[in-house]
Amino acid sequence: MRLGRPIKALPQPLCDYCSAHATLVKYGEASYPYREDHGALWVCTACQAWIGIHSRSTRNVPLGRLADGALRDAKSRLHDTLEPLVAGKVRRDRVNPFEARAKAIRWVAGELGFEPVSASIHNLSLDQCEQAIRHVEAFIARRGAASSEGNV
Ligand SMILES: [Zn+2]
Repeated sequence: MRLGRPIKALPQPLCDYCSAHATLVKYGEASYPYREDHGALWVCTACQAWIGIHSRSTRNVPLGRLADGALRDAKSRLHDTLEPLVAGKVRRDRVNPFEARAKAIRWVAGELGFEPVSASIHNLSLDQCEQAIRHVEAFIARRGAASSEGNV
């Protein structure tokens, strides 16, 4: 068997929980965590933590940090909490939801002084997600109170 060209070194991410190197797993492989195809994932099997890759990336660049069950849950709650703001921005500014979502994440990361300010939910830690959820909920509550007084 002939050897092909050397394989380009991958940006192999570390697991945030145990510091082990994550493994790139594709749909259909034994340690793939989903029943449906969500694209290739960097997985730490021991921690049941994973993260997807940029869809247009040819080098399997991870979308952010590996997320365990608690962080995946927090990201999904933050995502849901942001949706009213995202929908409003899509209507007002006629941007697509991805752009609106990225702007919303960047806004909340800036408001809360996260370093570095990222526009991706996948870079946030569990604690940052929880802070962001509380911040956005309070913002929506204040805005709701203002609009019922006819100030918007
Ligand atoms: Zn791990």
